[in-house]
Amino acid sequence: KLVVLGSINADHILNVKHFPQPGETVRGDHYQVAFGGKGANQAVAAGRSGADITFIACVGDDDIGASIKKQLFLDNIKTECIDAIEGETTGVALIYVNQQGENTIGINAGANARLTKERLAQYQQKIVEADALLMQLESPIETVQMAAEIAKRNNTKVILNPAPAQSLPDSLLSLVDIITPNETEAEHLTGIAVNDNQGAQDAAEALHQKGISKVMITLGSRGVWYSEKGSEGKIISAFRVKAVDTIAAGDTFNGAYVTALLEGKADEEAIIFAHAAAAIAVTRPGAQPSVPWRKEIDQFLTQ
Ligand code: ADP
Repeated sequence: KLVVLGSINADHILNVKHFPQPGETVRGDHYQVAFGGKGANQAVAAGRSGADITFIACVGDDDIGASIKKQLFLDNIKTECIDAIEGETTGVALIYVNQQGENTIGINAGANARLTKERLAQYQQKIVEADALLMQLESPIETVQMAAEIAKRNNTKVILNPAPAQSLPDSLLSLVDIITPNETEAEHLTGIAVNDNQGAQDAAEALHQKGISKVMITLGSRGVWYSEKGSEGKIISAFRVKAVDTIAAGDTFNGAYVTALLEGKADEEAIIFAHAAAAIAVTRPGAQPSVPWRKEIDQFLTQ
């Protein structure tokens, strides 16, 4: 059993030739509203890849919040711990994608900021009963801390995707079993730049020193730097695909990885499974629309 705790956003995505500069208006195309938010994306990746998953999150009491909750249910997610907050708007992300497939993102937390400790307390039994808890940093940090404490006390594995990038207190890091930063996030956490394998190894070592047993630094198209406390790290390569946009690549990786972990797959095999899911996601536009179902991942892996 898996619990994901995190954010839900409506993503407004616009493709542009180049990112608008201050004072500039840029004409875009292919405008779409897609469902996103790191928490929701990871929950969807876990649900579609086959996990038994409960999602703890908040939406606003608006139409889009209701639509999102319905869609999450269709994505094989247990939605009874998703609250609609009265008088609040659902979280929003405004995303530009340029011709290189890079993105810039502005976010309004909205209802996500209302995932308080008090609200979590109502659902803590879900974490007690779970085998793993997957979280990100788009929720109030004190709630993330509390959830990690509940998990730790009850032998529920804590997987933290420390995104968006910020530094974190040792009190939180020491509760984490598996951490999955990208290069930027790893640098924020450790102060060590991850520009090459040596940097990845040093950053991973610094995270092991905080008490984290497994470190996976995602390196985009290069794959991940994987290391276990007390042994040497290595790169596990990603699949070669033609990327359309990398929105939700990391989220898909995280959700699919945890699914594989809970199925008892060894780390390397679980990472390859997650690479396959993420590789499919980068060949498709948007966040949740790009996240593959289990069948697609299995098919990709047998190609
Ligand atoms: P984030 O989106 O959080 O920055 P990364 O860019 O590091 O995360 O990517 C996460 C994972 O997504 C990678 O480890 C890899 O599995 C997959 N991925 C990302 N970009 C590509 C790509 N261009 N080709 C294939 N896989 C990719």
